Amino acid sequence: MDKKEEIKKLNKKVAHCQLCPLFEKAIQGVPGAGDPDTEVMFIGEGPGYWEDQKGLPFVGRAGQLLDELLKSIGLSREEVFIANVVKHRPPNNRDPSSEEIEACSSFLDQQIKIIKPRIIVTLGRFSMQKFFPNEFISGMHGQTRFVDFDDQRIIVIPMYHPAAALRNGTIKEAAEKDFLKIKEFLDNKETQKERKEEKKEQIELFK
Ligand code: SF4
Repeated sequence: MDKKEEIKKLNKKVAHCQLCPLFEKAIQGVPGAGDPDTEVMFIGEGPGYWEDQKGLPFVGRAGQLLDELLKSIGLSREEVFIANVVKHRPPNNRDPSSEEIEACSSFLDQQIKIIKPRIIVTLGRFSMQKFFPNEFISGMHGQTRFVDFDDQRIIVIPMYHPAAALRNGTIKEAAEKDFLKIKEFLDNKETQKERKEEKKEQIELFK
């Protein structure tokens, strides 16, 4: 089964999920969207009002800023994959509880396993804490770390949530600077060569 089919199958499970109480007040599940064949995956917190209405991640004002930040490094949301830590909207946009995050974690884990991204950009503290539970976003944003996940080495770059950047000009400037890290990695000649070789090996395997 190709990645798109696997993601579709997972989306259907999210649509019927009742593992935590968040489904009760939400209009619909918001599993994630984008290109499952991408090298870059973004993980936010949870759907807000507009995301709940439309069934898509980051479609409100924070989403517009995310689009701008992506554009600044020559990417569009269609070229990356965007998901959240919880897939149903917490009522009144409250923070998701640790129980809800735990209940929903298998969906996020499955998305990462299917997509196999080279880079994961965590947006805000909840997604950062998935990989770095004892760190603070103020100290860690923009830093690049390797994380072993399901036999895969992934580069994880924690960043501020775009909603926080909308509220604070200093955070917005930091977010703009942090985004350049993604471009640096994607433009790096050595990693480009490594990626091409890996893709070639994968093609050989499927011949
Ligand atoms: S938030 Fe996650 S665990 Fe909770 S009901 Fe929705 S899909 Fe299931």
